[in-house]
Amino acid sequence: MKKIGKTFIISGPSGVGKSTVLSALFRGRDDLYFSVSATTRPPRIGECDGVDYHFISPDVFSEWIEKGEFLEYAEYVSNFYGTPKRYVDEAMLAGKDVILDIEIQGAQQVHAQRPDVVRIFIAPPSWEELERRLTARGTDTPEKIQRRLLRAKVEVQTAGNYDYFVVNDTVEKAVEELRAIMLAEHCRPAERMELLNGNNG
Ligand code: ADP
Ligand code: 5GP
Repeated sequence: MKKIGKTFIISGPSGVGKSTVLSALFRGRDDLYFSVSATTRPPRIGECDGVDYHFISPDVFSEWIEKGEFLEYAEYVSNFYGTPKRYVDEAMLAGKDVILDIEIQGAQQVHAQRPDVVRIFIAPPSWEELERRLTARGTDTPEKIQRRLLRAKVEVQTAGNYDYFVVNDTVEKAVEELRAIMLAEHCRPAERMELLNGNNG
């Protein structure tokens, strides 16, 4: 029986360290696929089109919505973000685990369509540390940082709907926990028995 990949959603406040932790998780792993989202927000210094995001205009974003290109999409702090559906499905069929770095509204939409997705919430060790990281990143104005911090308080309140809660205290520990969660999810009886039955039949 052919292995089909699983989908893992990673949500957490802006600045908590999702991109940092995920790039460490992906190192040397060609069995994982990072879903590159589309966004109407401008690129930050160092971000590459097609690698970090597909940077598109609001008009193109609307076209993609009309064409049904998105698995989910949401507005976040005055910009739109969405997950192109096609690549997610292709990667899963190729047996890869797919990682979606998406905020809480998008996570709800994906879970409603695909209840077998695994949802992981990444939290900061403290609010002070979250503010320090957002400021140290140097990519947002003080006003945008305040908006992202306000949004973070709302996001953390929804963490109880997630399957797992990881605190990004050190990157190494957060990556270790993510690896453990992904490994455990592949040991669920449904998947293991399907593989066993497929191999025997
Ligand atoms: P996100 O993708 O969640 O918005 P980033 O990965 O851009 O967050 O991280 C925000 C800032 O915090 C970056 O400057 C990054 O280097 C820093 N950072 C990430 N994880 C940690 C950590 N565990 N300890 C200290 N700083 C961190
Ligand atoms: P940032 O602007 O900091 O890169 O991302 C802001 C927020 O948008 C983060 O919480 C991130 O997880 C979320 N995000 C990124 N891509 C998507 C997406 O495709 N869909 C949704 N719903 N959220 C996304």
